[in-house]
Amino acid sequence: MEPRTDLTDAQRAAFEQNEAEFAELESQWRAAREAAEARLRDADYDPGGPLYCYRCTCSSFVPSDDDGNVCEREFCRHTAMQHA
Ligand SMILES: [Zn+2]
Ligand SMILES: [Zn+2]
Repeated sequence: MEPRTDLTDAQRAAFEQNEAEFAELESQWRAAREAAEARLRDADYDPGGPLYCYRCTCSSFVPSDDDGNVCEREFCRHTAMQHA
């Protein structure tokens, strides 16, 4: 599908606002992930794998069938964003 070029000024402005807000959110996420990683490192935690979870002892993200965005491990179920 081609990008639409028939947007009104209001629609264009809405997209710009969305983009700014998501960019802000992404930088917050990045900061949160870096802080989480540093916290575990400072606590001498050995994650046991490269895609480990920041919120539990899961050592590697496993994409689930139903929703690939959530870890399949029963005890984890945290999102990909919450894994390294
Ligand atoms: Zn996990
Ligand atoms: Zn987890």
